[in-house]
Formats: sequence, structure tokens, C-alpha cells
Amino acid sequence: AKRHGRNRAMPYREEFDASVAHRLQLLNQLRDALERREFVLAFQPLFAPDGRPVALEALVRWQHPTRGLLLPGEFIGICEESGLIVELGRRILREAARHYALLVEAGLGELRIAVNVSAAQFTDELFTDIESTLQEFTLPHGVLEIELTESVIMESPTRAIELMQRLAALGVSFSVDDFGTGYSSLAYLKRFPIDRLKIDRSFVQDLGVDDDDAAICQSIIGLAHSLDIRTVAEGIETEQQLAWLQARGCDELQGYLLGRPQPFETVLALLRRSHGS
Ligand code: C2E
Ligand code: CA
Ligand code: CA
Ligand code: CA
Repeated sequence: AKRHGRNRAMPYREEFDASVAHRLQLLNQLRDALERREFVLAFQPLFAPDGRPVALEALVRWQHPTRGLLLPGEFIGICEESGLIVELGRRILREAARHYALLVEAGLGELRIAVNVSAAQFTDELFTDIESTLQEFTLPHGVLEIELTESVIMESPTRAIELMQRLAALGVSFSVDDFGTGYSSLAYLKRFPIDRLKIDRSFVQDLGVDDDDAAICQSIIGLAHSLDIRTVAEGIETEQQLAWLQARGCDELQGYLLGRPQPFETVLALLRRSHGS
């Protein structure tokens, strides 16, 4: 990075330089990591209220050569800002889809595979990538699910609705991630081909502790159902949260209590055990 010695009296500038240098270094490392195939997927299961597994969410990790397994919080932001997320996202999509054959082999071919998609990925290019990925790995209708946040959808609603409709025609279903943290209304979202709302972890966390959060979860479930949209609760960590959500008709459940994000084989073993097969 450029040196600005004469700006010594401007601490902000030096801080800025340091962070730019750090980010450039990280970005270079990320490019190398893509080349060296250091990105791996963890899978976290989603369950129906009766305990039946219904989906696996793919969550990316960076198997760093010296720092160990890094979570997306450490690198996804810079991938998004730099545009690297487009190539990384394409790899993630293919890698997730590749596992479908293994699910079928394990007798779990009815599970959905959910993939997170960032704003920068949500373009016509994504349509082309998904179309070819569905073909290459022969994924039936309904297997691939895309998780989008409200902000991705609301950034350009007209474009989003069109892209989502084209993808829905290919058999892709949609979940709105982190629901409740954005600014969109459910009535508005109803115009989009949305299958599920994932109630943000922050509301689930305080169930049974904070009355407001219970009221929020209850209203999301009620409103979603009145619009024929299913609900998913993420971040379930306690039996109390689980029981509360089951009693209120939440359709799908996810969280550390039920299963952590883990390597595919580990999740598969967990699901096999819970099925007694
Ligand atoms: P997200 O999509 O909301 O994913 C849920 C996050 O919550 C995951 O963190 C997951 O490990 C964590 N989690 C799941 N259950 C629990 C729980 O019971 N308690 C707590 N405290 N946490 C729980 P992770 O894997 O670190 O991912 C963070 C975020 O990074 C994701 O949030 C998503 O926005 C993004 N991300 C992850 N993988 C991908 C990807 O492949 N592509 C894109 N574009 N974004 C990704
Ligand atoms: Ca997600
Ligand atoms: Ca989420
Ligand atoms: Ca609260």
C-alpha cells in the first residue's frame, strides 16, 4: 500500500492505510484459497416438528493452511465487496449440489439442499449457474433452496421478482433469511415466490425470557401462515425454545440443539442414527 509519511499528523489516514493494506492482503489470500480449493462446506440440518429431517443448509468455511477452520464472518464480507463472492458462490452451489447423489444413496433423497446467496450473486448469471448445476447433478424439482435476506430482495424488487420467478420455474424454492431484521412487510413479500421465512435467531434466542420476542415470533408465524408461507426458526439452542416453537406451529426447526453445522459425513451419521437405520 501507498505510504503517506507526510500525513503523520492525521491518525485517521494511517488507520485507513493499515486497514486497506490488511484487506488487500486478505483479498489476495482469498484468491489463492479459491485456487487451492481451501473452501469447504459444513451442513446444518433442518427438522420438521416431528423430528423428521427436511433439509440441509450449506454453510461455507475456509480451511486455512495455518489458522485452522475459519467462519464466514471472517471473510464473506470482503468476498462480497470485492466481487469474489460470484466465483466463490458458484463453487459453493456446485459443491452443495454434488452432495445430492450422496443423499439419495443414503436414502435421504427427499431432503432439500439450501444454499445462501448474497446480493452480489443475485444476477442473471446466477440463473445460468443454477440452470446448469441442476442439470449436471440431476437435481429434481424442489431439492434446491435458495436463502436470501430481505435486503437482497428489496434492493431491486422488480428485478428480484423476475429472477425469482424464472428460478422457481426451474424448481428452486426460496427462503427469506434473518426475517424480521429488515424493513419489508409480509404483505409486500407476498408478491414474491417465497416458500419460507426463517425467523431471525435474535428473536428465537429470548423466547421464554423476553415477552416482546415471543410476540414477534408468534406474529411472524401467524401472518406467514395466513399468506400460505411456511416458517422456519433458526438458532434454537434450548429445549424451552424448541417446545415453544413446536407448540405454536412453526413448520421447521434448526439450531445447535438439534444439530450443528458439520461435515457432510458427520451430519449423515447423525441423521441415520436418529432414524434408527
Ligand atoms: P445465516 O445464513 O443466517 O446462517 C446461520 C448462522 O448461524 C451460521 O453461522 C450457523 O452456524 C449459525 N447457527 C446455527 N444454529 C445456531 C445456534 O443454535 N446458535 C447460534 N448462536 N448460531 C447458530 P455461520 O456458518 O458462521 O454463517 C454466518 C453467515 O455467513 C450466514 O448466516 C450467512 O449469512 C453467511 N454465509 C454462510 N455460508 C455462506 C455461503 O455459502 N454463501 C453466502 N453468500 N453466505 C454464507
Ligand atoms: Ca441462511
Ligand atoms: Ca439466518
Ligand atoms: Ca429481545
